[in-house]
Parts: sequence; structure tokens; C-alpha cells
Amino acid sequence: MQALFKFASGDIPYTLQRSPRRRSIGLKIDAAGLTIILPQRAPLAEAERVIQLKLAWIRAKLLERETRPTPIESPILQWGASALWLGEPRLLQAALRVKLTEDTLYLCAANEQKIAPALIRFYQRSAKPYFAERLALWAERMALQPRQLILSSAKTRWGSCTSNGDIRLSWRLMQAPASVIDYVVIHELAHLLEMNHSARFWAIVERACPDWKTERAWLKQHGHTLLAWE
Ligand SMILES: [Zn+2]
Repeated sequence: MQALFKFASGDIPYTLQRSPRRRSIGLKIDAAGLTIILPQRAPLAEAERVIQLKLAWIRAKLLERETRPTPIESPILQWGASALWLGEPRLLQAALRVKLTEDTLYLCAANEQKIAPALIRFYQRSAKPYFAERLALWAERMALQPRQLILSSAKTRWGSCTSNGDIRLSWRLMQAPASVIDYVVIHELAHLLEMNHSARFWAIVERACPDWKTERAWLKQHGHTLLAWE
């Protein structure tokens, strides 16, 4: 049920839900906006009371949501659609064996719903050896010794580096151009020397990757497309 909370500096539309399982009032803000979840028997006025109580927080969250780019919906994959491989589109085709050519990625999937999981498996399987090679190469050039490479599925970050030298890279990066992947590898390696984003840190990145600003901008611009996966 749609409702409207009226107050002096503008109305807040919200969705009202009832939940038989809840004992307390729930409140969430997502792409759909504000939702208030009431226990089965709670009076409707309770919703407005909670909004009033949390008004400052709700308004701040809604504002934040407006200024953030809306994540795009997960793509519905079909045979004949394209997927990114190292920054280049590849046509998705059904086959009995996984195979990558200049313009086509053949995947084994029984039906179109299985394309996304098959594609993710392909990215994950390719990511480990690819990242390992790039990491070894850049570690040698930068005279650094990461402890180990861990493949991550992180949606919130492309890579990370811990103080004991573990470097995590997201398989989702396999969709990005090779130069962007190299930038992320260099970025995480540089954290072995500087655990911050200080001027000293960026100077280390720049020595290995003079175009880091372009690569970083690419990620900022296209990142949401790469993250539109489960
Ligand atoms: Zn960093």
C-alpha cells in the first residue's frame, strides 16, 4: 500500500507493508524508496510515528540515494547478446564446450536462465590464472612481494590488500580492459608500501602506471555495468 507522510518541508511517499512474522516495526530504504513494515496488528499510525522519529535519518538516506547513480538492473542474458571480455564485447553462443574466439564466447548452458551462471563460472575460471600472471609481472617490476592472490566476488571493491600482503581481486574485473586490470593490480601492490591513498601512494602507482587517472576514470564510468551481476 502506498502512503504519503506529510510534513512541513515536503512530503515523503512510502510503501506500507504488513508482516505477520514481525514483532517490531521495520524500515528500509532501497531503490524503490522508503518502506515501512508493520507487524500484523499494529495500528497504521505507528508507521507515521516511526517516520517522525527517524525523520532526519530517512531524509539523509533518501537524499544519498538520489545523488548516487542508480545501479542498472542485472542484464537478462540471451544467446546472441554480448558480454565483455577484457573490455571487448563477445557474442554469447550455445555450445557443448566452452570456447573463446575473437568475437564469440561459446558457453554450455541448458537454457537461457543458465547463461549467467555459466558466464560467471567462465570469468572466475579465467580470472585466477590471468590475475596471477599480471600480479607476478607487476610485483617483479615494482620489486614487491605479495603473499598470495585471492579471488573475490566483491561488488563494492575491485581489489584490496591486507597488511600481511594478501591481495584480493574481483573476478568481475575480467570484463574490464587489460590496462584497467593492470591499474588495479598496481594499485593493490602499491598498498604493500603505503596503506593509504596519500600523495606518496599515488606517486608509487604513477611510476608503474602513468595513465592511472584514465584507468581509474574508466572504472568510475563503467564500473556499475561490471557489477550488475549476482
Ligand atoms: Zn586503494
